[in-house]
Amino acid sequence: MQNSLHNKPAPRAAGGAGPARHPRALVWFRRDLRVADHPALAHALRAADQVWCVFVLDRALLHELPWEDRRVAFIRASLVDLDAGIAALAAGSGSGRAARLIVRHADAADEIVRLAALLDVQAVYAHHDDEPAALARDARVAGRLAADGRRLLTFKDHVVFERREIMTGGGTPYGVFTPYKNAWLKALHARPGLLAEHASDGDGGALAAPVAALVAPWRDGAAVPALDEFGFSARAAAALADPGLRPGATGGQELLAEFLDRMDDYDATRDFPAQPGTSHLGVHLRFGTLSVRRLVALAMERVTGGSRGAQTWLSELIWREFYQQVLHHHPHVVARAYRADCDDIRWEQGEEAEAGFEAWCAGRTGYPLVDAGMRQLTATGYMHNRLRMVTASFLTKDLGVSWQRGEAFFALHLNDFELASNNGGWQWAASTGCDAQPWFRIFNPVTQSERFDPAGAFIRHYVPELRLLGGKAIHAPWRARPVELATARITLGRDYPQPLVDHELARQRTLARFGARGSGSPVIGE
Ligand SMILES: Cc1cc2nc3c(=O)[nH]c(=O)nc-3n(C[C@H](O)[C@H](O)[C@H](O)COP(=O)(O)OP(=O)(O)OC[C@H]3O[C@@H](n4cnc5c(N)ncnc54)[C@H](O)[C@@H]3O)c2cc1C
Repeated sequence: MQNSLHNKPAPRAAGGAGPARHPRALVWFRRDLRVADHPALAHALRAADQVWCVFVLDRALLHELPWEDRRVAFIRASLVDLDAGIAALAAGSGSGRAARLIVRHADAADEIVRLAALLDVQAVYAHHDDEPAALARDARVAGRLAADGRRLLTFKDHVVFERREIMTGGGTPYGVFTPYKNAWLKALHARPGLLAEHASDGDGGALAAPVAALVAPWRDGAAVPALDEFGFSARAAAALADPGLRPGATGGQELLAEFLDRMDDYDATRDFPAQPGTSHLGVHLRFGTLSVRRLVALAMERVTGGSRGAQTWLSELIWREFYQQVLHHHPHVVARAYRADCDDIRWEQGEEAEAGFEAWCAGRTGYPLVDAGMRQLTATGYMHNRLRMVTASFLTKDLGVSWQRGEAFFALHLNDFELASNNGGWQWAASTGCDAQPWFRIFNPVTQSERFDPAGAFIRHYVPELRLLGGKAIHAPWRARPVELATARITLGRDYPQPLVDHELARQRTLARFGARGSGSPVIGE
């Protein structure tokens, strides 16, 4: 789906899809850092005689991040990979032209308008970004380009189905996942061509675009500045030594190839954080270093072959799109509960709640699985999905702290932080969200630990002070006999905290908290 944010309809190519031909175009890369299957790039190459590619390291976004932010290191390394990808495309085109990525550190809106004027392009090509702040930015850019007689042309890329593409028969958005998923699958079966790749290398089938139009920026030298040239510590790059965080389309392809060997077992292994069950591709979907269409196509192939693992994995990709459409239709979730009646919940405040929140952030709650999950997050930027659910439940339902505080902490630390999924996940766990966990179902952090880390291997890795503790005591050290603690060289309260709360008492408090929330307010989507 193509959108012109300009008031005038975009000119169409005679007899074909996409914009009409024009001399010059600029492709604005944002959360789509790859050349393969890139609709905006493919459309620009088909429409224009000369095409420049740009990424803006946006000052407004970057200045809020810590100077050792792993994601910035990931983005920078992914830009180096993208630059090489563009150069390789141009080299393979036989046009004799070299091409590179233009990288700027500036206010993105200002810089795109400035660059469009400098290069005198007729159109800027980009992909939809439906986060509220990005929509506002794009509307500003479109308006300023239009004032200069240029267009911002945007295309769907980040999801298979977006915006109003999957709606109920009554024309309303879905509020429950399973019927949404069924409608999503039905829509895909009806339009299999949707997954066709937007190749730019001449051999990609119907949507392939010629690449001879790619041109180089006007200045030589390294395209991508070093981290410290735009205010970040070079030490942030150390995060890229983690084999789970391989940057760029190249890193994404490697991780994908490894995951393809495990995909069929995904349903059996995905809940056990000590096992290499999940894909670790979240960060690649976030920054578009892999195309979601490609991942869905690979999963569908296996589903057709009867793979239950692929079927479950595909469901997770559809959860991602479910939350994207929740954000699109209900942007109030960014600031408030999806369910209006849940805005009245009285979360704990004051010194004790603050101390609880800090202990949770530091992985020192005294509940080993919760602490292991939180330490995995702060040490690596990744947290296993089972632990995201357990730690979020613990913060909101054992400590009674508002989901918004947890959401913000995850947003700061997760490599794969995605506004829609993070908000959806937190509101699911806190029972304030769309198709959420019922409020009276409260995870028991000890039984979760016994079920999903039965041998305590994950806990021992991230909470090494407990590594000598054997048997069931690893899940609840305060229940260990004194001799077990002595053998494991642990004094509770000194080497490892006493549990911060009694789970059963906390459960009762949560039931009372939810029972007392406002009644009579409308509940959306049910
Ligand atoms: C409190 C909480 C916060 C979360 N925050 C985020 C976030 O900021 N960004 C994010 O991408 N996911 C988030 N999730 C969803 C999920 O935990 C991660 O997508 C998953 O753990 C990423 O690991 P993976 O790439 O190995 O996933 P896999 O299990 O291999 O799944 C493949 C992909 O499917 C998508 N996916 C999987 N599960 C979900 C889900 N429940 N909801 C939405 N998409 C899903 C992701 O894009 C993921 O990469 C959150 C979940 C919870 C409970």
